[in-house]
Amino acid sequence: TQLDTLDLVVLVALFVGTVAYFTKGTYWSKPHDPYGGSLAHANGLKAGKSRNFIEKMDESGKNCIVFYGSQTGTAEDYASRLAKEGAARFGLKTMVADLEDYDFENLDQYPEDKIVFFVLATYGEGEPTDNAVEFYEFVSNEDVTFSNGAAAEEKPLSNLNFVAFGLGNNTYEHYNSMVRNLNTFFERLGGNRIGEAGEGDDGAGTMEEDFLAWKEPMWTALAAHMNLEEREAVYEPVFDVVDMPNMDAEEDTVYLGEPNKYHLEGVQKGPHNAHNPYIAPIAESKELFSADDRNCLHMEIDVAGSGISYTTGDHIAIWPTNAGKEVERLLRVLGLEPKRHSVIKVSGLDPTAKVPFPSPTTYDAVVRYHMEICAPVSRQMVSTLAAFSPTDEIKAEMTKMGEDKDYFHAKVADLNVNLAQLLEILSNGAPWDKVPFSLMIEGLHKIQPRYYSISSSSVVQPGKIAITAIVESIERPGAPHIVKGVTTNYLLALKQKQHGDPNPDPHGLKYALTGPRNKYDGVHVPVHVRHSNFKLPSDPKKPIIMVGPGTGVAPFRAFVQERAAQAEKGEEVGRTILFYGCRRRQEDFLYEKEWETHKETLGDKFHCHVAFSREGPNKVYVQHKVQEYADEINTLLEQKAYFYVCGDAASMAREVNALLIKIIAEKRGVSEAKAEEIVKSMRASNQYQEDVW
Ligand code: FAD
Repeated sequence: TQLDTLDLVVLVALFVGTVAYFTKGTYWSKPHDPYGGSLAHANGLKAGKSRNFIEKMDESGKNCIVFYGSQTGTAEDYASRLAKEGAARFGLKTMVADLEDYDFENLDQYPEDKIVFFVLATYGEGEPTDNAVEFYEFVSNEDVTFSNGAAAEEKPLSNLNFVAFGLGNNTYEHYNSMVRNLNTFFERLGGNRIGEAGEGDDGAGTMEEDFLAWKEPMWTALAAHMNLEEREAVYEPVFDVVDMPNMDAEEDTVYLGEPNKYHLEGVQKGPHNAHNPYIAPIAESKELFSADDRNCLHMEIDVAGSGISYTTGDHIAIWPTNAGKEVERLLRVLGLEPKRHSVIKVSGLDPTAKVPFPSPTTYDAVVRYHMEICAPVSRQMVSTLAAFSPTDEIKAEMTKMGEDKDYFHAKVADLNVNLAQLLEILSNGAPWDKVPFSLMIEGLHKIQPRYYSISSSSVVQPGKIAITAIVESIERPGAPHIVKGVTTNYLLALKQKQHGDPNPDPHGLKYALTGPRNKYDGVHVPVHVRHSNFKLPSDPKKPIIMVGPGTGVAPFRAFVQERAAQAEKGEEVGRTILFYGCRRRQEDFLYEKEWETHKETLGDKFHCHVAFSREGPNKVYVQHKVQEYADEINTLLEQKAYFYVCGDAASMAREVNALLIKIIAEKRGVSEAKAEEIVKSMRASNQYQEDVW
């Protein structure tokens, strides 16, 4: 039979889809959006635009490009700040650029009188951020070639001058490996670094201060190298924010929080990714703790029919909405409350400036859906805002806070306040109406989706994704406000709506739960899935050992669920050992009943060892339980058991790693150094996997 046109279209689409899937691997970082309207593409590059950054710089008269590799927005923020500062203080013609928007074969053609910055975050186990995957493949290639075909020995990059800063976390083994590898790459090929390669450490909590301390000597070196003269920095807005009095917020071209054009038009169209969420119904939600003062949510998110698929061990990203209370506070303190629903159009004053949200829109929508308004305040932001203080007294105070690190810590950081809370305290509620809105767009991060380790098995429930999330609520003695986690309190409010609780939050957070134009009505939340390498062995007979205290147990609920389902189908399943920890059995023992049910199915194959930290006279943690079962763990590891750790990166995961080295040394009678090597090689071969945050 002949294929008709529709069949052909479907076949071609299937073929293209399959090829795309296998060539792009697990990363869907670059959606080609026919509308050119996704969040990242809203006002910047459109499909089909040149990927030649040198050409782009020439067209727009730039002599400095600041590339960022960013996962949570911090690297992107630092890149913008460097670009602004370079322009304001040294008259550089700067532009900020996303690594995924350009190719790098022409690095060897980069003019000697220009400068290129790289601000690179290292993610997880030394991995590149999603937007830096291709760039990283390029620079990691031993046989990299450039446009003029010169070999590495000929030092093809000897004309290239670069600046580098890395964002990392010293609790991970591959600390700041992105920037370190970049440095090695340039050294090998002859690139000329200006200043030190900076390293910021999130693990020590000093990222911002590391950045501030690094950039001053870097600017001095750069100014000397490029013969730049420093001038007094005056604030120049990056964005043009224009009131549109003739437009009404209800007009259907106005974005009221919709992330892209599909959403504006009410079309749910895949692929769903970091630029394009799926508005998913929450099928079920419940409280897991029985404590009065702490909440932990279990939610089942329905993705059936969305085209979203996941495999056990993946992460789901939840797109939050800011709490009404904080939205109102910021609008009030900026004096924008009266015109919060007026329509504005926002565009870059420079063709290379990307507006981080689609417009026309309203102040309310920008603040509620697109800006990270609750995060800790940066010292540099305080410095920049000083000039727009409502009085000279406040200006002097802001200037001092900006200049004096210790004073800033005592007066701002230690109080756990967000920006609006700080401004409100300083001015006693008087409006800061001289602050340009552009400065808010530049100075506050774009809101980030938060990731959750999926706590259901894709084999058991492919269309429904479970999460296990602890609700963040941090009270600090002496601090004027309770820090309420942005996403988890939003989820808590959704759960309360689902259960008909009439009085959601005792602190009056109040969320716009029905979303822009009621598009989230019912109980819906915007999501996308991020694939991970945290995976069960393909052979279910292989033994597994899992260490996951607190919400670190999330992916292990999925692992055990999957193994129980396999056993029920008559498959042979290997030993499945879980080390779990919580405070008290009666209070926060997650999924206790489920473990019992799985024990009935899996019998001797499954053991759940629980450490209670607040039950007995001594605090017992998972590490103690791991030590207690050291013999069995060592034997299983010798039988090639997989070893998994999930949860707190800062201390638990590190301690478990050290403990495992000790156990192997003891039980196998080898030196600690040898045991460390064994653990390293377990990691390299995926026998040891971590999912930590
Ligand atoms: P946020 O608003 O992001 O705040 C987080 C913290 O930042 C606060 O608790 C506070 O310590 C600090 N903070 C925020 N604002 C301020 C301020 N103004 N001043 C001072 N400090 C402040 N979590 C889970 O519960 N379960 C999981 O399964 C899970 N899996 C994860 C998997 C991955 C790969 C990653 C990266 C993270 C995972 N997380 C998980 C953590 C989760 O992504 C969120 O970070 C967490 O839920 C908090 O989000 P939030 O928006 O509620 O809090």
